[in-house]
Amino acid sequence: MSKLNLHAPDVAVLRFVNDLNLRAPDVTVTDSQVALNYLKEGNLRFVNDIPMPRNTNKADMEITKNGQKPFAVILTCADSRVSPEIYFDQKMGDIFVLRNAGNVADPSVIGSIEFAVGALGAPLIVVVGHSKCGAVYSAYSGKKDFWPALQNVLDGIRENVKDSPNAEQGMLHNVCCQVDKIKANAVVMEKGATVIGADYDLETGEVRFHEGC
Ligand SMILES: [Zn+2]
Repeated sequence: MSKLNLHAPDVAVLRFVNDLNLRAPDVTVTDSQVALNYLKEGNLRFVNDIPMPRNTNKADMEITKNGQKPFAVILTCADSRVSPEIYFDQKMGDIFVLRNAGNVADPSVIGSIEFAVGALGAPLIVVVGHSKCGAVYSAYSGKKDFWPALQNVLDGIRENVKDSPNAEQGMLHNVCCQVDKIKANAVVMEKGATVIGADYDLETGEVRFHEGC
């Protein structure tokens, strides 16, 4: 994992290799660096407003109707502004997406990751937090007046953010805690999947990847 290159390619390179990024859904990606490059290049396309050429939805369904081979699992927040298929500029069948408030690796998420890694062979898992995350800010505040199920979620996040100097640092630490939890999963370890953290900037659209915590 330490060999992963987390730096985004520059736009000139991106334009040159753009056609190479149009992965066919029936091609299996087993290299986590290749998978990460797809995400980095996709985010660079998104930030620069040069999305990949797209099939129609009907054509994409025809291509993917008999199976899926996603190259990455993305755990991110349920916030309506944080849609990974959009900010990574990916198509149907490309990424296996899990979302909830505060991008928490709860038992249902861990079970879904076991499926994506164990059965579908996804080589890369990325936990993506984001700036101004309402779940993290609420957890950081320590308020206790939310509805019961929501309070339970926030109490779990609170443990990861309470010692941070501010909510934005708390967001990053919460991502790292979820990364650690996923790394400890037996299926993830057995399959040798790579797990890294990242954060999405609501103002710029940029995703920054973090190998360590
Ligand atoms: Zn959020």
